[in-house]
Amino acid sequence: MAEEETPKIQQVRQSEDRFLASDVFETNRRQLPRANGTGTYLEPAREIPVYHNCDVLVVGGGPSGTAAAWAAAQAGADVVLMERYNHLGGLSTGGLVIWIDRMTDWTGRQVIQGFAVDVLDRMPAEGLAGPPRADWGSKDPKKASYWGQRTAASHGIVNWSPTLDPERLKLISQEMLLEKGVRLVFHSWAAVPIVADGAVKGVVFESKAGRQAIHAKVVVDTTGDGDVFARAGAEFDTDIEEGDVHHSANTAFVLGGVDMDRWLAFRANEPEQYAQFAALGRERLGFFQPPYVSWRNDIALFLGPRQSGLSALDVDDMTELEIRSHRFMQTHCDFFLAHAPGFERAYSRPRAAQPVGRWRGAAGRDRREPVRLAQISRDLGALWRAGAAPAGWLARRRASHQL
Ligand SMILES: Cc1cc2nc3c(=O)[nH]c(=O)nc-3n(C[C@H](O)[C@H](O)[C@H](O)COP(=O)(O)OP(=O)(O)OC[C@H]3O[C@@H](n4cnc5c(N)ncnc54)[C@H](O)[C@@H]3O)c2cc1C
Repeated sequence: MAEEETPKIQQVRQSEDRFLASDVFETNRRQLPRANGTGTYLEPAREIPVYHNCDVLVVGGGPSGTAAAWAAAQAGADVVLMERYNHLGGLSTGGLVIWIDRMTDWTGRQVIQGFAVDVLDRMPAEGLAGPPRADWGSKDPKKASYWGQRTAASHGIVNWSPTLDPERLKLISQEMLLEKGVRLVFHSWAAVPIVADGAVKGVVFESKAGRQAIHAKVVVDTTGDGDVFARAGAEFDTDIEEGDVHHSANTAFVLGGVDMDRWLAFRANEPEQYAQFAALGRERLGFFQPPYVSWRNDIALFLGPRQSGLSALDVDDMTELEIRSHRFMQTHCDFFLAHAPGFERAYSRPRAAQPVGRWRGAAGRDRREPVRLAQISRDLGALWRAGAAPAGWLARRRASHQL
């Protein structure tokens, strides 16, 4: 981070209007100048091959798309799921958002049901970490303290918020769709919707085989960015607040070779030393991010640092994000290795294939959302306080606003 200016840090605290609390880092310095393109290029019309015809085409293989494809196939439809990367799970796997947020209410009752439960039920014990069912809703201070350090207790109550192995989740999601007869199309990027009689009836997509088309009776846009409905001309809204955690972006990473119990004990039991450590981290790294637990004691999850002012829809911004993220990972690995109890033998593992940019925010100023993010943030805060888990609500809310 040597040539970077020192980033400004904004602390976002939980409040009536803020669902997530976090540091948000701001810097305007860019590694590369803006691209120098001007004018336009008229792409010639051409005939392209039709790759497939189906009842339902789901575009985007994240949690929403996987659930949508599974449900449509269950209802008897001939379903295709198209995904630009090589796996299912979207941000929850490729983005390393491996912490499935609260599925229980404050009494410990599981309020997220359906597909999410079916998926988790198939996870092997070694691929899932979280409190035993008997402890969901427990207010026992010892249990709440233990699980509070491990992302599975808040407000002094233990909840069901497991962390999981992303590779197992990719595999289970894939097998569940194949069992239902869903045709998977990986490494294919939906580029242009095919619109007929005011409805989307397929997409033109790009792959190594070139440009091809899929025709469908129904198209479900689960790209997370609204690529299909936005390009089809549907209305959408954008908003940005540079100081809101929902509008910041980052690419997550994990470090292996960690003794997480040792790190957590240091953080909890040695507050003065921890404060000195964190201050040193900020001084040395600028963008400083402490870790979360993962599904294993020897793997630490870093879901940041969260950078504001970058748009998920701007290729220069996304390039900037990745350049910085590659550096963050190495500088954090080096710093933790040298200074953090429990990280003496840490090593870097493959970084997330896709940036976290949904509700925390790659959103940015150009985020195409059919509903306002600020409103979602407020609604989430209300639901959180009311004891409803956000995960299912989010999935439903998003689905209901997509084509
Ligand atoms: C710490 C943390 C905790 C979180 N907890 C929760 C939670 O509990 N509940 C929750 O709902 N959310 C949570 N989130 C947010 C979570 O990451 C998203 O809600 C979730 O991933 C959204 O799923 P999705 O399928 O809508 O989108 P995504 O996961 O973004 O999936 C979209 C998929 O579409 C693909 N795609 C995009 N464009 C195209 C294209 N043009 N052509 C082909 N494929 C395309 C992408 O590659 C991706 O696989 C959390 C985030 C963080 C950081």
